[in-house]
Amino acid sequence: MYNILKIPNEKLRRPTARIEKIEEQKETLTSICSAMYEVLNKVGGVGLAANQVGIDMRLFVARIDNKPYYFLNPKILEERGKQDSMEGCLSVPNFTSKVVRPAEIELLWTTIEGEIKTERFKGFNACIVSHEMGHLEGRLFIDYLPEFKQQKAKKKVEIWKRRQRKQSS
Ligand SMILES: [Zn+2]
Repeated sequence: MYNILKIPNEKLRRPTARIEKIEEQKETLTSICSAMYEVLNKVGGVGLAANQVGIDMRLFVARIDNKPYYFLNPKILEERGKQDSMEGCLSVPNFTSKVVRPAEIELLWTTIEGEIKTERFKGFNACIVSHEMGHLEGRLFIDYLPEFKQQKAKKKVEIWKRRQRKQSS
């Protein structure tokens, strides 16, 4: 079972590496994606990027319209409009805030079968895709917030960590 990295882990800040030769790595990629999706389900999240579990690969998994999606080498083709999004992040536990996201995103990615796909995501799904694409670039949703809110987020995460340590000791 993967462990989800929390801020201020440096791996969350590094842009991820493009996946080469997807066909040749199909088995490995399948097991990584399904294990990540299992973690996502267990914690009740909607999206998880590979660098959040310490894997340097340009991929994320998401639950979209209640179905598992595995996005390999995703690329944003187009963003349209704006919407307010109330967000949290598995790497920033115990903190939520409103951020502005595109209302629509057209994404291109490779499936685990090596197939190229494009799809337009709207509403909440566009927020998920935008949030996860940020992770793959080493960017977190708190980066969009004013400094005092970022400090608050850091404090909330430290409180959460202390509570976890207490529970496990
Ligand atoms: Zn996140």
